[in-house]
Amino acid sequence: MLLRLLLGDQLHIGHSWFKADPDPVVCYTLMEILPETAYVAHHIQKVVGFFGAMRAFAAELEAAGHRVRYFTLDAPDNQQSFESNCRALIAELGATRFEYLLPDEYRVDQQLAAFASSLDIPAQAFDTEHFLAPREAVQQQFAGKKTYLMEAFYRKIRAQYGILMAPDGKTPLHGQWNFDAENRKKLPKNIVVPPAPRYFREVTDIVQMLARMGVRTIGTIEARHFDWPLTRAEALDTLRQFVQLRLSQFGDYQDAMSGRDWLLFHSRLSFVLNIKLLHPLEVVEACVTHWQKKPDAVPFAALEGFVRQIIGWREYMRGIYWAEMPGYRDLNFFEHQQPLPGWFWTANTKMRCLQHSIGQSLERAYAHHIQRLMVTGNFALLLGVHPDETDAWYLGIYMDALEWVEITNTRGMSQFADGGLVGTKPYVSSANYIHKMSDYCAGCAYNKDQRYGPDACPFNSLYWDFYDRHRAKLERNPRIGMMYKVWDAMAGEERAKILERAAWCRENAELL
Ligand SMILES: Cc1cc2nc3c(=O)[nH]c(=O)nc-3n(C[C@H](O)[C@H](O)[C@H](O)COP(=O)(O)OP(=O)(O)OC[C@H]3O[C@@H](n4cnc5c(N)ncnc54)[C@H](O)[C@@H]3O)c2cc1C
Ligand code: SF4
Repeated sequence: MLLRLLLGDQLHIGHSWFKADPDPVVCYTLMEILPETAYVAHHIQKVVGFFGAMRAFAAELEAAGHRVRYFTLDAPDNQQSFESNCRALIAELGATRFEYLLPDEYRVDQQLAAFASSLDIPAQAFDTEHFLAPREAVQQQFAGKKTYLMEAFYRKIRAQYGILMAPDGKTPLHGQWNFDAENRKKLPKNIVVPPAPRYFREVTDIVQMLARMGVRTIGTIEARHFDWPLTRAEALDTLRQFVQLRLSQFGDYQDAMSGRDWLLFHSRLSFVLNIKLLHPLEVVEACVTHWQKKPDAVPFAALEGFVRQIIGWREYMRGIYWAEMPGYRDLNFFEHQQPLPGWFWTANTKMRCLQHSIGQSLERAYAHHIQRLMVTGNFALLLGVHPDETDAWYLGIYMDALEWVEITNTRGMSQFADGGLVGTKPYVSSANYIHKMSDYCAGCAYNKDQRYGPDACPFNSLYWDFYDRHRAKLERNPRIGMMYKVWDAMAGEERAKILERAAWCRENAELL
């Protein structure tokens, strides 16, 4: 008998394990484990989503004739650890071999490697066959270099897989690798945003089980109308709807934010991609095929922009994770120590951009990239929040948050806690950028144009205060030097008032 362990983010039906006919001597096991729900406070939709998708996947495997042993969280024989449950199953089944798929999280990777080597039966780990680049890809490509470069990494993968390449296989289609410059528009007032894909199902049983088992969660859920895709069929439907309804405008509005709609032209595919219900190549293929059929309807810039997220940023972040862990999770370049304001868990702030982005996150376990980067992340960085606190919030609140892609985005891209490994400069802005890309400022209690005074937008003073405090670390950065010229050119009295307002905001962050 062979025992094979599948983790909750390894629901990849296309894996070669499942290509052969079901074998009665192979038993697959999936398990809901208490400690996995507790290392941070997760959004209730995330816990329900993972367990719901795992249960559906186990049922699919069984329906296809595979032997499956599923541990619900409240099963009497669930010993609440991968190791203990697997040991018990090995004994019960008389298993003579143990196999598992390589985890994407460093901690679990170490844990299962130690478990496998402690067994007295042969054990082996297999690739998940999900990612396009191996774990070591970033480390190998940039060996000996001081920084990593997403663009170079992206080009390599694109050429290697022949995605959007000219017939010579070496140059990019349409002669240019990156069309990002065409992709930065504000949402027009009269634009019609297509309805988001939603899959209403009742999950009351899982919600009640979590309450019974004392699982601590954040956020809200509509247990009778849970709307996330949880099966492969629903994941494919989400992809189909994105390609048909949103892809053509993804490029134009990928950086736009609006209080009118939570999804805009984004795909909402990160959760189903991260649990591997979808393969990145099939996502790319669906987009490219649609564009080939309707070249006039889908601007090439939109297609290239979306493909870059999937085969560029997503794979790149994973490569950074494996190149830099475990040290990455302790980095704090700016030595920030401030706690995250309590309203990150309630959305109870007068700042409309934050109120909307956090409120939406609590309600939907989702925010799109610019809300995460230029609203919540921007504010946490300007305020000087300790990256451990910021990481814990992002890791808990988002449906798609798994450490390999959360920490690299949060600690790296958003908080610059790695000192410039992922990004070449900190992503900070004043109200200027938020106003340019959103309709938030119009209905805000604060004045986007003021830098000091009780009504001044907190982003404005905190922005200059951030540069002022970190002058020694940032002044020599060629992409930033200009900001110091602007700051130094301001009148001394003006600068003092800005710093005074920033100090007040930092001391009274809970009141903002
Ligand atoms: C502070 C911060 C934290 C983040 N945490 C996570 C996280 O925990 N999990 C996660 O999957 N993404 C994370 N991201 C990246 C990105 O914000 C989400 O992938 C995206 O918002 C998911 O929504 P979507 O599927 O509608 O994406 P779309 O805008 O439709 O983009 C398409 C896909 O591209 C991929 N993608 C886009 N940008 C990135 C990126 N920077 N890194 C990796 N993949 C990317 C995702 O798979 C996404 O589904 C984070 C970004 C920031 C700034
Ligand atoms: S004025 Fe400032 S706080 Fe208010 S929405 Fe605009 S950027 Fe956000």
